[in-house]
Amino acid sequence: MQSAQNYIDLKKEVEACCIDAGRTSGSTLLLAVSKTVGIDEVQKVFDAGCRDFGENRPDGLLEKSSAFPEARWHFIGNVQSRRIKDIVSCAYMIHSVYKADHLHKIDVAAQEVGKVQKILLEVNVSGEESKSGLVPGNLNEVYEECLNYRNISCEGLMTMAPLGDLKEAEACFEGLFELEEQLKKRGSQLKAPSSDRLTQLSMGMTDDWRIAIEKGSTIVRLGRAIFS
Ligand SMILES: *Cc1c(COP(=O)(O)O)cnc(C)c1O
Repeated sequence: MQSAQNYIDLKKEVEACCIDAGRTSGSTLLLAVSKTVGIDEVQKVFDAGCRDFGENRPDGLLEKSSAFPEARWHFIGNVQSRRIKDIVSCAYMIHSVYKADHLHKIDVAAQEVGKVQKILLEVNVSGEESKSGLVPGNLNEVYEECLNYRNISCEGLMTMAPLGDLKEAEACFEGLFELEEQLKKRGSQLKAPSSDRLTQLSMGMTDDWRIAIEKGSTIVRLGRAIFS
């Protein structure tokens, strides 16, 4: 595996893509999704300079974050109620929150460890039945609920585009961008001080990250592009 070199090349490409899209240098974070590999491969990419990694299972998150405490570990997988404590104990950011009844548990778990948990709300923009995430119509309500919790900071939105069709992916990313703009407006109407924290758009994977950056992605989540 050429993981380290892949990471180095991709980091440059992400940067070039930001500039081409008329965005500022460094405005998109390359998140290395290490869910399919072990500690040895993570080590190579860490040594190449990567400090942001994503995992989709609590056990992987716990194991790898304790092996690499200097890195920031992002949780991008399905959140199960009974694993919230574990996830909160080591996640820098949780990208995949969409159930309103998880917010209270996240808040309590964060308070217990003395942190403010950064989260993103996952949105099912394309409306595919197989996908998790909030339907856009329920987003305002769940976002407003986030604002009630002192130990939660909602920093933006996340989505997964339909696979295989770049036109559909593009529409999905545009949709997520628009939804975040609407939420920002809504937040300023509510005069919610934390609405100015809505700065992140986690969108774009190995097959579609270039389009995602054109559409305003601030975090691309790359697995296969690095680790295969
Ligand atoms: C696996 C995964 C990724 C990375 O996917 P690749 O296509 O391998 O880049 C990104 N986001 C989520 C939520 C994932 O589960």
